[in-house]
Amino acid sequence: MKVLVINAGSSSLKFQMYKMASEQVLAKGIVERIGLDRPVFKFEADGHKRGGECAVKNHDDALHLICDKLVDKEIGVLKSLTEVQAIGHRVVHGGEKMTDSARITAEIKNTIRDCFVLAPLHNPPNLGGIDACERAFPGTVNVAVFDTAFHQTMPPDSYLYAIPYEYYTKFGIRKYGFHGTSHKFVAQATADFLGRPLDKIKLITCHLGNGASVAAIDNGRVLDTSMGMTPLAGLVMGTRCGDIDPAVVLFLVKQGMSADQIDGLLNKKSGLLGVAGLNTSDMRDIITAVESGNEQARQALGMFVSRLVFYIGAYHTLLGGADAVVFTGGIGENSVYVRSLILARLGALGCTPDAVRNDVMGKPAVVSTAASTLQAVVMPTNEELMIARETVRVLNG
Ligand code: ADP
Repeated sequence: MKVLVINAGSSSLKFQMYKMASEQVLAKGIVERIGLDRPVFKFEADGHKRGGECAVKNHDDALHLICDKLVDKEIGVLKSLTEVQAIGHRVVHGGEKMTDSARITAEIKNTIRDCFVLAPLHNPPNLGGIDACERAFPGTVNVAVFDTAFHQTMPPDSYLYAIPYEYYTKFGIRKYGFHGTSHKFVAQATADFLGRPLDKIKLITCHLGNGASVAAIDNGRVLDTSMGMTPLAGLVMGTRCGDIDPAVVLFLVKQGMSADQIDGLLNKKSGLLGVAGLNTSDMRDIITAVESGNEQARQALGMFVSRLVFYIGAYHTLLGGADAVVFTGGIGENSVYVRSLILARLGALGCTPDAVRNDVMGKPAVVSTAASTLQAVVMPTNEELMIARETVRVLNG
């Protein structure tokens, strides 16, 4: 079965084409700067790479460009678009209704639309990608895979905010959590890797990329996660502040800042970027600056590590003890150094780092000593593959 995975952003359209039996990526690519000046595309298949500027005005144009490449005589991987049996879409917000992936119907599209207010930057382009696929692939099944769905098992103790209850019932103000597709993928992959059933293992999964979140997973069910009603809460991230006293926002309002200004400050100018003050949110640049003795960069990295250690400790207690702490995402998978700083602080939880084992990048590994009662595991994530698998699961009922 061939499954197309689509991740539609406001100005980009990413895709991967899977052959599912072998979970092989036949082709992948991205169209960027859609609707802006000088849009560009990248297409990769079977060792061939194509790319450059292109004339696309909207997501429909971008999808047609991708489709043309997929069936191209020279670099294509399909004889006809009818070979695509299903299309899986990343959808950021499914609210409380979407507790699982779902075949897209008019009703599901309405639910995605109802969540525009909760994810104004993501859900509209996600729905745009679905609409474009329905036009380009008439009759093909489309499946929505929600970033929030895996976290819907959280109990009210975790997801409610301690504000008057009617703000939850009236506006849906609560914790939803994000990166669910990644947390679900690495939880299953870690259980498999450790030879344990997912419903009999307690995990703390740390997705550390530009955005970062941590989840407490109790026998396959999310007990708590660090992102909130929006992806701004929780860990210190590349450009996001994570947890702060909400009164800081009120203080800034009283200083005369507008909602949009504060939104930009906390989402785009904070985190590693804001604290280190080096005009970069890239962890590699922060580490290089730390190594050359930059004090502000050291401070930013220290906060990143401390906040995560704080959450790991809290989730360990919440879970009543855990079997493994799992590192994924660009930083979690690849940074031996950042992991070593985190692991060095988990001794109280029974986790002792093994420097030789920790010297690993981008592949599954146990990086704690054999005697550790809390194991530390590196597990690469693969959200696109998870979306493809979910699509097949939904298709097969
Ligand atoms: P996104 O959230 O955009 O998907 P990624 O998961 O790709 O992001 O993670 C990007 C982050 O991973 C960046 O901060 C980048 O610096 C970091 N990263 C990637 N490789 C390394 C490495 N070898 N050492 C440290 N950080 C790394």
